[in-house]
Amino acid sequence: MKQKTAEIIADLKAHLEYLREMGIETFPALEPSAKEVPVSSPPPASEDLALEQVRAELGDCRRCKLHKTRRTIVFGEGDKKAKLMLIGEGPGYDEDVQGRPFVGKAGQLLTRILQAIRLDRDQVYIANVIKCRPPMNRNPEPDEIKACWPFLEKQISAIQPKIICALGTFAAQTLLRMDTKITALRGKVFDINGIKVIPTYHPAYLLRNPDRKKEVWEDMKRILELL
Ligand code: SF4
Repeated sequence: MKQKTAEIIADLKAHLEYLREMGIETFPALEPSAKEVPVSSPPPASEDLALEQVRAELGDCRRCKLHKTRRTIVFGEGDKKAKLMLIGEGPGYDEDVQGRPFVGKAGQLLTRILQAIRLDRDQVYIANVIKCRPPMNRNPEPDEIKACWPFLEKQISAIQPKIICALGTFAAQTLLRMDTKITALRGKVFDINGIKVIPTYHPAYLLRNPDRKKEVWEDMKRILELL
């Protein structure tokens, strides 16, 4: 019993430490909901596929030029029936080596951000707009996004999340079919066929701009509220 209490206190300390690191001094007094913006077009696909079928259909994909330089296809991972799906841009070096999304430094920050709203990685589903690492971590190109998009669309359709958190410009713009900058998209809640889409900054951007963590915390509180 004593040991369990000590573990709980240690967990709580780590959690508070993270919040302090994010610049948060008080814990979630939830604010009124952001205005929802309906988006008329895209996802999800109507086909009712299981994730395994989507992975099988993707196979050893060579549908775009990224197949020539990748080590592994990073399909995505997490709870197949997650209420929250997080979608980033594409795999980086660590992800390409391990075949798992968000496992590098930015991924570790994402894990801590999730922990701040009391979620473990295995309670959510994490994927990317493109599933193969672009050479030198360059931005994904339109033809690559176009080739990979149907599979992300099918993943969304299979998981049917309640909320999608779009991490960074490419994820937000691809999901919302807009070319608006992430700075203008974040802070809003979009609705795509009943799925709430919440754009926020990519954890890699947060590593370079730690002063933006407070805004991400606001977005996380919104997610918590909607969940
Ligand atoms: S990025 Fe997507 S479409 Fe291109 S090769 Fe990889 S899995 Fe296929």
